[in-house]
Amino acid sequence: MLEIRNLHARIAEDGTEIIRGLDLTVKAGEVAAIMGPNGSGKSTLSYILAGREDYEVTEGDILYNGESILELDAAERAAKGIFLAFQYPVEIPGVATMQFLKVAMNEQRKARGEEELKTPDFMRLVKDAAGKLQINTEMLKRPLNVGFSGGEKKRAEILQMALLQPQLCVLDETDSGLDIDALKIVADGVNALRSPDRAVVVITHYQRLLDYIIPDTVHVLYKGQVIKSGDKTLAHELEANGYADIIGAAA
Ligand code: ADP
Ligand code: MG
Ligand code: MG
Repeated sequence: MLEIRNLHARIAEDGTEIIRGLDLTVKAGEVAAIMGPNGSGKSTLSYILAGREDYEVTEGDILYNGESILELDAAERAAKGIFLAFQYPVEIPGVATMQFLKVAMNEQRKARGEEELKTPDFMRLVKDAAGKLQINTEMLKRPLNVGFSGGEKKRAEILQMALLQPQLCVLDETDSGLDIDALKIVADGVNALRSPDRAVVVITHYQRLLDYIIPDTVHVLYKGQVIKSGDKTLAHELEANGYADIIGAAA
């Protein structure tokens, strides 16, 4: 579903190369974890997958369902079913979360040539999904992410994901700032999305989240490259021994 080949990317503004020859394959049905020390390029990779314009790809390719997405803008990628939950969710002042969700769902339907959702149908879907994530519908009347606590932001992202049912979900540091109860709710939300025709990429610095979202594969990112891949036991190894051994072996 996702194939990243020898990707090199730099910050558009100053030309600093952050992603330096990254290879990664994620199959449909798979939950892949990307781990790595701070500053290794995890968030940068998520921005590049989203199509943020502050980064330039200088070499390599990103294939999604066999087709390069490099020429697609962020909205076109979203319409194709790619969903990114960022480490620092964007605040959208002046638009109630509920309204934002409705527009997002209808944009997606429009891109697929489907009819707009009728308000009662939309309300039913939102209430159902919000209930599962223990989100108070009062929160959805407030502008998206404005004044939301860390936990509320993460739940709001998972809610968007549950409603949009993307094919490829990339979650960057969804665990940061979550207490254990919120972490479990978020993990349940992600696990509910597991399906043979969907892939999930979970980016995390710590192993903790992976106790609740058990990954099929684990990849270690360091200095903009995947330096080691394995199964879920690799995450346990990292938890026990830290990153130093793997980085040393790759150097
Ligand atoms: P991670 O998410 O793994 O902690 P990041 O992708 O946030 O790592 O950052 C990787 C490196 O790139 C860091 O050294 C960071 O300072 C740098 N970096 C990323 N984006 C920018 C930017 N827009 N301007 C300056 N430096 C950046
Ligand atoms: Mg970081
Ligand atoms: Mg990061």
